[in-house]
Amino acid sequence: MAKPQKVLDLLIIGAGIAGLTAGIYAARMKLNTLILEDALIGGQIIDAYGIENYPGFHSIKGSHLIEKIEEQALHAGAKIDEFDMIIAVKLTDAEKTVETQSTIYKPKTVIIAAGMDRRKLPVVEEKHFRGRGIHYCELCDGHLYQGKTIAVVGGGNAAVDAANFLDKYAKKIYIIHRSAALTASISSQEKLKNNPKVEILFNTNILKASGELSLESILIEDLLTKEQRNLALDGIFVNIGVVPKTQLYKSDIELDAALHIKAGETCETNIKGVFAAGDIRTKLIRQLTTAAADGTVAALLAEKYITQKERGNQV
Ligand SMILES: Cc1cc2nc3c(=O)[nH]c(=O)nc-3n(C[C@H](O)[C@H](O)[C@H](O)COP(=O)(O)OP(=O)(O)OC[C@H]3O[C@@H](n4cnc5c(N)ncnc54)[C@H](O)[C@@H]3O)c2cc1C
Repeated sequence: MAKPQKVLDLLIIGAGIAGLTAGIYAARMKLNTLILEDALIGGQIIDAYGIENYPGFHSIKGSHLIEKIEEQALHAGAKIDEFDMIIAVKLTDAEKTVETQSTIYKPKTVIIAAGMDRRKLPVVEEKHFRGRGIHYCELCDGHLYQGKTIAVVGGGNAAVDAANFLDKYAKKIYIIHRSAALTASISSQEKLKNNPKVEILFNTNILKASGELSLESILIEDLLTKEQRNLALDGIFVNIGVVPKTQLYKSDIELDAALHIKAGETCETNIKGVFAAGDIRTKLIRQLTTAAADGTVAALLAEKYITQKERGNQV
C-alpha cells in the first residue's frame, strides 16, 4: 500500500529544546506544524539531573524541564510524532520532501533541529558514572567541582578551553590526551601551560573508571611505556569531539568542516525555506538557552518565508 502524503506548513525535525521551542512559536502563529522525533522527546538534556542555568528555575531536572516545554508546544497546537524514523529527505528551493517509515511529508518549510551526540568516554563504566563524575559540559557542571581534583580528556580547542574555564573551580586539573601534543590554538595552550594547577598527561589512555556512588579514580595507561596506574580524582570532563546528526541532509545542505549545518544567527541554510536550529548548526555556544533562541528565530523566519511566498513576493 502506498504511503499517505501530507502537506504541512512546517515540519520540524527533532524534539529537543530547539525543535520544541520552534513548535511553540510556529503553532502560536497558526502554522500547521508537526515535530518529528525518532527517539524519545527531549534530546540531550533529558537525563541531566540538576540544570542550574536555565532562566526561571534555581535547579530543574532535564526530564521535568522538557515535560513543561512539550506541554506548552502541544497546548499551542503543535503536533508531535515520536518514533517515526526518517528514511529519505529531498530539500530544494522549490520543493521539500521528507519520507518517514509511515508517511511522505510535503512541508512548505523545514526546521532541522536534530542536535548532536557528544563522543562518549570509551570505558564500560561510562554509563554508570555519567552525571556522577563523568561529564560532557563544563559550563553546565563545572560548578560542582569547587576545590576538587578533576581531569579534562582531549587535546583540541574544546578540551583546552574547558580546562581554562574549569580553572575557576578546581584545585587541580589533569589534561589526559592520547597523543603527544595538543592541537588547540597556541594562545589557549599558553594559558594552560602557565597555570600551576594544570598537569598534562600525554600519550595516556583511560582504561577504567571506579568509585562507589560517584567517580573516585581512573586507571590510566602510558601508551609508550604501557605502565598502568590509578589516578584519584573527583570528576572528568570529556571533550573528545561531537557528532552532529547531519547525515541525512549532506547531499542537499551545506555543512562546515565539523559537519554542522552552515547557518548563522538567522538559522537560514543554503536552501530557501530550510532552517537549522540548535546544536546542529555552526555556532560558538551550545546551550539550552541558545538552542531555544534558535528555535524562536527559525520559527519566526519560517512564518515570514511562507507569508511572503503566498503573497507572491520573491524570497
Ligand atoms: C549531559 C549533558 C548535560 C547538559 N547540561 C546542560 C545544562 O545544564 N545547561 C545547558 O544550557 N545546556 C546543557 N547541555 C547542552 C544542551 O543539552 C544542548 O545544548 C541542547 O540540548 C541542544 O538542544 P537541541 O534541541 O539543539 O538538540 P538535542 O537536544 O540534541 O535534540 C535533538 C533531537 O532531535 C532528535 N533527532 C535527531 N535526528 C533525528 C531524526 N532523523 N528524526 C527525528 N528526530 C531526530 C534527537 O533524538 C533529539 O531528541 C548539556 C548537554 C549534555 C549532553
